[in-house]
Amino acid sequence: MKGYMVIGGKKVFKQEEIEITFPYTEEVVGTIPRGDERDVQLAVESALIGFEKMKKMTAYERYQCLQKAARILSNRSKEFAETLTLEVGKTIKESMGEVGRAVNTITLSAEEAKRVLGEEVPFDAAPGIKGKVGFYRRVPLGVIGCITPFNFPLNLTCHKVAPALAAGNSVVIKPSENTSLTVIKLAEVLIEAGFPPEAVNVVTGFGEEVGDALVRNEKVRMITFTGSVQTGKIIMSRGGLKKYAMELGSNAGVYVDKDQSYRLKEIAERIARGGFALAGQVCISVQRVFVHESLFDDFVEKIKEFTATLKVGDPRLPETDVGPVIDRQAADRIMEWIEEAVNAGAEVVIGGKRLSPTLIEPTIVVNVPESVRLFKGEVFGPVIAVNRVSSLEEGIEEVNNSPYGLQAGIFTDNLKAAFKFVDEVECGGIMVNEIPTFRVDQMPYGGVKESGIGREGPHFAIEEMTEIKTICFDLN
Ligand code: NAD
Repeated sequence: MKGYMVIGGKKVFKQEEIEITFPYTEEVVGTIPRGDERDVQLAVESALIGFEKMKKMTAYERYQCLQKAARILSNRSKEFAETLTLEVGKTIKESMGEVGRAVNTITLSAEEAKRVLGEEVPFDAAPGIKGKVGFYRRVPLGVIGCITPFNFPLNLTCHKVAPALAAGNSVVIKPSENTSLTVIKLAEVLIEAGFPPEAVNVVTGFGEEVGDALVRNEKVRMITFTGSVQTGKIIMSRGGLKKYAMELGSNAGVYVDKDQSYRLKEIAERIARGGFALAGQVCISVQRVFVHESLFDDFVEKIKEFTATLKVGDPRLPETDVGPVIDRQAADRIMEWIEEAVNAGAEVVIGGKRLSPTLIEPTIVVNVPESVRLFKGEVFGPVIAVNRVSSLEEGIEEVNNSPYGLQAGIFTDNLKAAFKFVDEVECGGIMVNEIPTFRVDQMPYGGVKESGIGREGPHFAIEEMTEIKTICFDLN
């Protein structure tokens, strides 16, 4: 597919292009224009006109357009899934799953368009104030810049764009340069569904060029970003006075308590699925597992057994469980991190081999020292570190032993242990008897510490994407 930018409803091509490759074979499967600062300016000008047009739409009309967009996307599920598999390299099962979730995210946002609420303010609750009545409303911000990562180009873009439009904003989207094709198609769906063409813009290109220009643009009132901590920090230092929502990385930890021996097989399978989905390139992939010492050996046996059954290979085949990582640079880094852990005393119990430039076997590494990057950093690859701990307290300490705080999990039947974990683990979300990879699209989702600022999930994103306007009447 020859990609293009979408500015004011028009297709915009450029002489200079960036190639999109299929991660599994590294073949070129498309191109996108290499946009620049001027394109960003044009897109923002368009979005300002789009915002004026959005102001004329009622909440019900915004609801209807989002409902229609969800229907169009659902009807084109197969085509969207195939594009996702080609540019992200995720398995076709995973791609169909992402399209289904995106339809749901848009539908949830449609519903939320009907309940952007304010409330009455009790002005007379201050001493000496009489005869004043009023309320506050939530009003849209204006132009919102949406910068998205490579791993869930469709659903994560929907998590920004659909609530933004539901609340009456307009958007300029800067998708990942690796995976822009799906986002271009999404913009077309939204325009076809009836949103003003000027309100939905896509500028493709590199982060340091297009992304940076969008971040620095003073007419952009908010940047909603999903991506790495490193980029998030650059954005916040470059963007000046505007609102930010930051959905950043993590190295999610899970603790398996001593009373879980009766269902260790099931837990091991769920943890492996949570670590190897999308070849580990999920912000809430299970990366660090802490198992009570009484169960450790048994757990390692069980997770090894399950990992050995996973089919690794061509993501286009329906039977494939684990596909490639996004590119060979990512694979180089992941292999380097495994090697570093092994040199520091860790042991690979299954996997650890590179099957092609971008394909890495699902890998379990045990006894990983906390000094190495596989423990401290975000591996974003099909690698799970499993360590033993001697108590719940140590499990909590180790889960917290991270610069990140997105989601964490605990498996236990002990109510007190569960609540202690909930109270003491510093994360945006805690999953009890569930893996940290669990997310449904309506829930509040986001991190603490270096994992970010703000919450997504349409209801919560709308709170971030509106501001409060206070209205007071003097009736004296
Ligand atoms: P990335 O930070 O490399 O890129 C994300 C986006 O930022 C891309 O569109 C990129 O072009 C753009 N960008 C890069 N430099 C920029 C700059 N200087 N100014 C403005 N924009 C810039 O991330 P990635 O490799 O695409 O995605 C993987 C990361 O995303 C992981 O860290 C993962 O944990 C994180 N992530 C987080 C969530 C979440 O919800 N918390 C979800 C998915 C992914």
